[in-house]
Amino acid sequence: SADEILEKRKRFLNPAMFLYYKKPVNIVEGKMQYLYDETGRRYLDAFAGIVTVSVGHCHPEVVGAVVRQTQLLQHTTTIYLHHAVADYAEALVQRMPGDLKVVYFVNSGSEANDMAMLMARLYTGNFDIIALRNAYHGMSPATMGLTAHSTWKYNVAQGFGVHHVLNPDPYRGPYGTDGKLYANDISNLIESATPGQVAGFFAETIQGVGGAVELAPGYLAAAYDIVRKAGGVCVADEVQTGFGRTGSHFWGFETQGVVPDIVTLAKGIGNGLPLAAVVTTPEIASVMAQRLHFNTFGGNPVCSVAGHAVLNILDKEKRQDHCAVVGDHLLRRLKTLQDKHTIIGNVRGRGLMLGVELVTDRQTKTPAKEETAILMDKMKDLGVLVGKGGRYGNVFRIKPPMCFSIDDADFLVDALDYAMSRL
Ligand code: PMP
Repeated sequence: SADEILEKRKRFLNPAMFLYYKKPVNIVEGKMQYLYDETGRRYLDAFAGIVTVSVGHCHPEVVGAVVRQTQLLQHTTTIYLHHAVADYAEALVQRMPGDLKVVYFVNSGSEANDMAMLMARLYTGNFDIIALRNAYHGMSPATMGLTAHSTWKYNVAQGFGVHHVLNPDPYRGPYGTDGKLYANDISNLIESATPGQVAGFFAETIQGVGGAVELAPGYLAAAYDIVRKAGGVCVADEVQTGFGRTGSHFWGFETQGVVPDIVTLAKGIGNGLPLAAVVTTPEIASVMAQRLHFNTFGGNPVCSVAGHAVLNILDKEKRQDHCAVVGDHLLRRLKTLQDKHTIIGNVRGRGLMLGVELVTDRQTKTPAKEETAILMDKMKDLGVLVGKGGRYGNVFRIKPPMCFSIDDADFLVDALDYAMSRL
């Protein structure tokens, strides 16, 4: 039972492994955008295992590919030839623009960003790295330094050579939607706190954990320009924004009209299997050839065929277009809800990567942190699972599996309306 699991978790698992909800849900099965608890109760999953189950829980084609590969060969490491990792790399880079044609596979977003930091430093010969405030890039010792969100910081030494600049947040930032003005902070930082040369710049295009904050338009183009002039490379963290989820574009960085030098991928790339990647140019990748680099599970056959299946499904089921249509509908309905409930301060995002920020006062934008937690519990009781995030923990994160339908969107908004009406 849920109580027994809870008891075992308390006894045997590190308390840092946190749970959502006062009375946590005990999930035993998943089918596409729905999850089922031990009583058979169905939940609409609007958080997708934290933006990871891209094409749907236990999508039959991913399951089929994984089962076939598991029966044939599970693991050898990449020191022997196996077709799956090479086939998948070829399919993956076909989706990338420009010269982004070389992949290194790892197992998590933190590892991918670790490697991107290493590549940036090796390639440029510089040390200083710039990231945004309110960013989340991982929890490894190195990426914890890149992350700039107090919930995820330990009071230990971290982040040597990492600097955080002003977050181009159109809702809370000082310059509204003027991306170029925010980018000036990067120039100021480079002039004042570095030798004038930097190794790299990291950014998500829509900050995920940070609360679906879509960077102000024009920001990345201006930022990339400044960083490249200072000798640095530009890294796009596409761990949450990639694979057509934004609806308008396959990659998040394309929404800002830029082409990065390094792209990091994780989460949705494997639909729930541990798979992540660093994609870069042959020139940047060549710096890694100075040494051997090894990752035991990176590019293993089972995860590679899962990743390949995800790409095929995205095409076959036209998931990017679907995200655009359902996302527009959902955004429109959430904005209408904002007219009714003053607690909704801001509705934002693209495609199926949306945020609803709750405030107790629209003028002061005081975060409605407690109310967000209460509403999230009520949503669960109504059968809808959403995520929570943002600097103040007052943003609903709506990022369902990409098969989420218009009816699902309506169900979610109706549940939110009902919960808010009774708050
Ligand atoms: N980058 C982003 C944008 C993320 O959202 C996350 C995970 N929340 C990571 C990196 C780290 O990924 P992982 O948890 O797989 O290490």
